[in-house]
Amino acid sequence: MQKEIDFSTLLKDLPQIISARAANALAKIRILTVRDLLTHLPSRYENRCRLTPIAALVHGEVAQICARVIKTSIVQGKRRVFNVEIADDAGDVCKLAFFNFYRSQTEQYKIGRRGIFYGKAQISPYGHFVISHPETTWLADDEIPEISTNLSAIYPTVKALPQQEWRAVISVILKNMANYFEKNQQDALTNLGYFPLEQSLNVLHSPTLNDGKREITLARARLALEELVAHRLAMLDARSYLQSFPAPSLPSDGAKTREFLQTLPFALTNAQERVRREIAADVAKNIPMLRLVQGDVGSGKTMIALFACLAAVDAGLQAVFMAPTELLAEQHAANLRRYTTGLGIEIVLLISKKTTKEKREILGKIKNGKAQIIIGTHAVFQSAVEYHNLALIVIDEQHRFGVGQRLKLQEKSHQGTAVHQLVLTATPIPRTLAMSNYGELDTSIIDELPAGRTPVRTTVISSDKREILLERIKAQVAAGAQVYWVCPLIEESEVLECENAQEIYLYLQEQLREIRIALIHGRIESARRREIMEEFAAGNIDLLVATTVIEVGVDVPNASLMIIENSERFGLSQLHQLRGRVGRGNRQSDCVLMYQQLGKTARRRLEIMRKTNDGFLIAEEDLNIRGAGELLGTQQTGEAGFLVADLVEDRELVEKAEDLVSDWKKNEENFCQILLNRWAEGKEKYLQV
Ligand code: ADP
Ligand code: MG
Repeated sequence: MQKEIDFSTLLKDLPQIISARAANALAKIRILTVRDLLTHLPSRYENRCRLTPIAALVHGEVAQICARVIKTSIVQGKRRVFNVEIADDAGDVCKLAFFNFYRSQTEQYKIGRRGIFYGKAQISPYGHFVISHPETTWLADDEIPEISTNLSAIYPTVKALPQQEWRAVISVILKNMANYFEKNQQDALTNLGYFPLEQSLNVLHSPTLNDGKREITLARARLALEELVAHRLAMLDARSYLQSFPAPSLPSDGAKTREFLQTLPFALTNAQERVRREIAADVAKNIPMLRLVQGDVGSGKTMIALFACLAAVDAGLQAVFMAPTELLAEQHAANLRRYTTGLGIEIVLLISKKTTKEKREILGKIKNGKAQIIIGTHAVFQSAVEYHNLALIVIDEQHRFGVGQRLKLQEKSHQGTAVHQLVLTATPIPRTLAMSNYGELDTSIIDELPAGRTPVRTTVISSDKREILLERIKAQVAAGAQVYWVCPLIEESEVLECENAQEIYLYLQEQLREIRIALIHGRIESARRREIMEEFAAGNIDLLVATTVIEVGVDVPNASLMIIENSERFGLSQLHQLRGRVGRGNRQSDCVLMYQQLGKTARRRLEIMRKTNDGFLIAEEDLNIRGAGELLGTQQTGEAGFLVADLVEDRELVEKAEDLVSDWKKNEENFCQILLNRWAEGKEKYLQV
């Protein structure tokens, strides 16, 4: 007897009910399990519940005809056309036309053969009805056509299987899951008025004529809720798993920390102080900290992370500070070294472009414990890097590091102890997203900027007016300030008619001869890039023409004018990040958003930028405009890749799921386990990536 089918069953393990050919075709589009298949929801439904007599055809309307082939021909015009004439029982005639066809197809249309033909009827220029490329189901000579009493689902992915086969495969799976459904007839969701699982799936894949929009919405909501709850449960499980290991307790008032506090050139903001304490309380415990610090650009997150690092150093242990790009890693290293001058702390920078000899030396220091704070990109977690006694990981992540990757870092802890984890995000994350994507973390928010900052003024102008900026640049530079000019591309591209950094650089050099201009972008060698950034930070460069390499983290308080070329090509969060490069000192700063062509979405984006400096608001809008995957930058890795739930559309369900979880964890343990098995195959999904 066959093993019971559940959501995790692999399609290729069901040869009796799904052909190897179909399973292979589905595997190509990443549909591997019953779960993948059943959650591949139709994009729309067609009504095939009745037959249309040919005499009753209406131009432009979809019809289903039961008829017999009476004539076929191939017409050689500009294109080859395969024409078929069919006649129904009343003797009325209609044509079928095929523009792309194979012999195997034409051979099926034998004179006298009966079938059901489904497609859109149109009146041809010659005045008769034609259906192009109908969907055909052949009937035996005396077969009574079996007309569906349900609406027919139309699936969005046509490449894998023809529509009929999608429906057939799903229907056979659902039938074979009777046992599974039987056991799950009643659960906490049916108690809340949702359809049982089986009914929900039937409504979605094969609704009856009575199932209207409301039923379909309700059925979908059950699946989305199940998925969201399971996700949340898995995150909580992952969290308790991580916290089941002991972590070293780190002091928040050690010698280095106290010394650092004394040399700090400014007072921490109230928000910084609050978050510093939250972190101090976390790391003092013998369980690993799992904390996310959200704070708008310029709110001073680096400083807070440094306090955490110092706690590790004071305990005689190591801390890793991980940046999303090498440029930022270099800058963090420079900043942390500057902040900690005189404290006698060994900070090493591990980046790919160092020579083999340098790297060997750094790796040696990491291994023997001489290196106390280690800065780098994710390369710091390559297997070649062995830590002496790692206690803390700071991830300055800008959304590029997903849950799975974070959990994997745990492997770098030594001898069964866990590391404390601190995640910093520069772009505030809307609540629903934070809940789903950082669900295993506690959250701290730095909702205050250091005193003396004046909000950046933002203007939007057409790129035709570029010249007026030349005067503004001159004035800024004369006043001792510095300027960024950001372009979306490095080189000229024929595809995108964007201004490119190179060309703008040459143009500005020619126009502004008295001004010191430099060009920086990702293809410039990293040592040279660092030199340029250092020169800019030191005030030896007035105007920096750049691509988005300066997007995150770059910190030059004297820069007060940010010009963004082709700003319509940037996303909201990216624009907010870029704008955050100015307004860091006490000068009034400006941001000029230039555009070439404004579509509707771009116009909306730039308008939002003009109106607000509030990163949380901007993040919400970005979520509305772009969708979750893109905002998190994890579309490829599928971190935000829910099968049914949509973090933008289903925000209410996300909230509801969170409430349900707190209730069910206490009162519905059994159902929680069922949901985990159904959707997440247990916590393994998150722990073994
Ligand atoms: P972000 O949150 O964007 O990472 P940073 O940590 O880079 O912000 O800090 C931005 C700038 O503000 C840096 O130049 C930093 O030295 C400075 N800064 C941080 N905290 C304060 C403070 N409490 N008062 C004044 N300046 C501060
Ligand atoms: Mg930062």
